[in-house]
Amino acid sequence: MINSFIYEQPVKIFFGKGFLSKLSEVLEEIGAQSCVLVTSKFFAEKANELLQNSEKIKAVYSGVVPNPLLSGAEEVVRVIKENSADTVIALGGGSSIDTAKFAAACAYSEKTPHELYLKQDFPKKVAKIVAIPTTSGTGSEVTKVSVISHENEKKSIHSPAFMPTAAIVDPLLTMSVPAKTTMITGIDAFTHAIEAYWSVNHQPITDGFAIQSIKLITQNLEKAYTDSDEEAKTNMAYASLLAGLAFALPKTAACHACSFPLSANYHLPHGEACALTLDSLMIINNSQRLEELSKQVGMESTEKLASYIRHLKEISGLCTKLSQLGEVDIDMLSRESTKHPLMANNPVKLTEDDLRKMFETIK
Ligand code: NAD
Repeated sequence: MINSFIYEQPVKIFFGKGFLSKLSEVLEEIGAQSCVLVTSKFFAEKANELLQNSEKIKAVYSGVVPNPLLSGAEEVVRVIKENSADTVIALGGGSSIDTAKFAAACAYSEKTPHELYLKQDFPKKVAKIVAIPTTSGTGSEVTKVSVISHENEKKSIHSPAFMPTAAIVDPLLTMSVPAKTTMITGIDAFTHAIEAYWSVNHQPITDGFAIQSIKLITQNLEKAYTDSDEEAKTNMAYASLLAGLAFALPKTAACHACSFPLSANYHLPHGEACALTLDSLMIINNSQRLEELSKQVGMESTEKLASYIRHLKEISGLCTKLSQLGEVDIDMLSRESTKHPLMANNPVKLTEDDLRKMFETIK
């Protein structure tokens, strides 16, 4: 029986190889007049090319760093104000998209980005956002989430103010992603889809996205990692988009809750931090529903799906033990993870002690 649900997805999505060329068309369609383009160093040259070729793009900010900082978003707000921009274009991975989303939400407020970071009372009027992902992982192009760090805190902020107006998903932009980042971002998408499926807020439409995404990831991630294969990378771009659509409403759960203290204190990239506990949590969260999912995606059982995740980590040299991070404070990790709001979405209620036991098994 299908339970009642409310579904919404306001982002207009343009998916296709070479679709970066549609940027001018998209800007015209959404009524953009004056745009600021936000990116990281890797795409600075490409961004300047876009600046030269579009009258609507007035400035480029190419200073975004991984695990993006509030100070970066503050800089972008300054550039938006200087150019009276009505639209922020993000070209890059989750770090560029999240910086652009946060800055767009702060641009027209009387308050400073720091005040808004603390209180999250974003104004109703925000700049439009066009998100162009260049990694296959975060799904940030279709979510209300922006993850921003400040003073050793990595905060996952949820607000309708962050919802992009349009997303251009051009798989060709992901061809240059190095192998290890392909694996890390691919496992991030894997985690989104699995957590969307087991979140207590899951619903039929998002379950459909999650199942299709997991199937594509199990069929394509290893090939995208080993061969940089164009078809596999295109399928991963689609799988990542589907995973974003899958978790946008149900949100994620225990695995993401554990990932935040791991990234904030031991500087693990987001996807690698998720990967560290994903297989353990799969066994802890196992259920008839999860066994059925495993079969639907071509694995015999949840145990087989969990060991496939271990295999992906091993072939790509991702962290599999806490000891690889140096001296790790398991008490702090368990305490911080239990306190995280996303923990409330986990299908199995986990206490600090349960998490301590889990972290002990991957010591
Ligand atoms: P990233 O954006 O930090 O990029 C990682 C590195 O890859 C950077 O050095 C970047 O310059 C480089 N890069 C990006 N695209 C490239 C390309 N095509 N070719 C070569 N190099 C490229 O990585 P990410 O995994 O996409 O984003 C991670 C961030 O997103 C984290 O802060 C994470 O917490 C956040 N996140 C946000 C959401 C959301 O819904 N907003 C969801 C999951 C994760």
